Amino acid sequence: MNEVLQRRLAERRLQSRYRRRRVLESAQGPRLQVDGRDLLQFCSNDYLGLANHPKLIAAMQGTAAQFGVGGGASHLVCGHSELHHQLEERLAKITGRERALLFSTGYMANLGTVTALMGKGDHILEDRLNHASLLDAGLLSGARFQRFQHNDMADLERRLQKLPADGNRLIVVDAVFSMDGDMAPLPALAALAQKYNAWLMADDAHGFGVLGENGAGSAEFFDLGQQQLPVLMGTLGKGLGSFGAFVAGSDELIEALIQFARPYIYTTAMPPAVAAATIAALDLLVDEPWRRSHLQELIRYFRDKAIALALPVMASNTAIQPLLIGDELAAMALSSALEQRGILVSAIRPPTVPVGSSRLRITLSAGHSKADIDCLLAALVEALAA
Ligand code: PMP
Repeated sequence: MNEVLQRRLAERRLQSRYRRRRVLESAQGPRLQVDGRDLLQFCSNDYLGLANHPKLIAAMQGTAAQFGVGGGASHLVCGHSELHHQLEERLAKITGRERALLFSTGYMANLGTVTALMGKGDHILEDRLNHASLLDAGLLSGARFQRFQHNDMADLERRLQKLPADGNRLIVVDAVFSMDGDMAPLPALAALAQKYNAWLMADDAHGFGVLGENGAGSAEFFDLGQQQLPVLMGTLGKGLGSFGAFVAGSDELIEALIQFARPYIYTTAMPPAVAAATIAALDLLVDEPWRRSHLQELIRYFRDKAIALALPVMASNTAIQPLLIGDELAAMALSSALEQRGILVSAIRPPTVPVGSSRLRITLSAGHSKADIDCLLAALVEALAA
């Protein structure tokens, strides 16, 4: 093999940051089978427990029987089916936006949107803890790209004040930060965007389906319409238990994305059966609201008990409840100790999170019970004492 690659791989091994995959032998759910063992998992983003829901499975099977499996082509060639179209209309309706546009993944939605809207001479300001896809999008866009301190509105305002008058301005944040679980102060961001004549984009990968009265996500949670939050991105592979992503906003925004977003134009449309499964998931947001309330109850239950046990919880009220460990090796050792006790929780290390802030990223799901959380807490106490 190429020597440079060999050296880079060896370096990564030495840093103990080598990433390995687990092979799952079962469907998604609170319990996963790995190497013949049943593990209770707290690491998926299937927050509502929909990934293995019979109604999603039936919708996918029925549509595959009628429409086949493959998307066939990109949306602009001949891959845009009536199911994609219906799903876009449903997404526009639930988010209260004029239109929505499907992307094949959230990563592509972020790359496509930021690069379609911004270019040379423009200015992008991103929270420094934004998801990798947003940071990559900022770099790829060719615009002037800066990162402000996490959720620090004073730092953002100072930077906005210093921008030259020319060029478009885009402020971009994760609505729920994927490795911390805290939320961006979207109303304050919307006010700054308005004051400094910037667009605001929020990536609601971890809020859509979960937050808000109807599960419409962070925009609904904060009651922010299209005017205040003009570029709303959401993913379909997390709370909705399906796959893919969307951007919702004005008719003009969606037309601009169709014309200029390269990861939209040059990729195969998601399979129509996936769109059908996602429509079934949107129906379940209405038909099974208990999933959101049960999840909220589990979040409170976990936090109350974890705080009473003096576990190093972070400032999050969402389904992402990380425990801050600090040292990389200690975080990995804790994750292995939990696995030995039948519990799967991933250790998240640099470069995904800043150096010195390695953590266990615990995620809760409506598929869990309080007894599952008791098991997790007991295993944590035991593993930390060992
Ligand atoms: N944005 C955020 C905040 C995410 O956490 C993720 C997924 N980890 C994505 C975007 C990418 O979404 P997808 O998995 O659909 O590509």
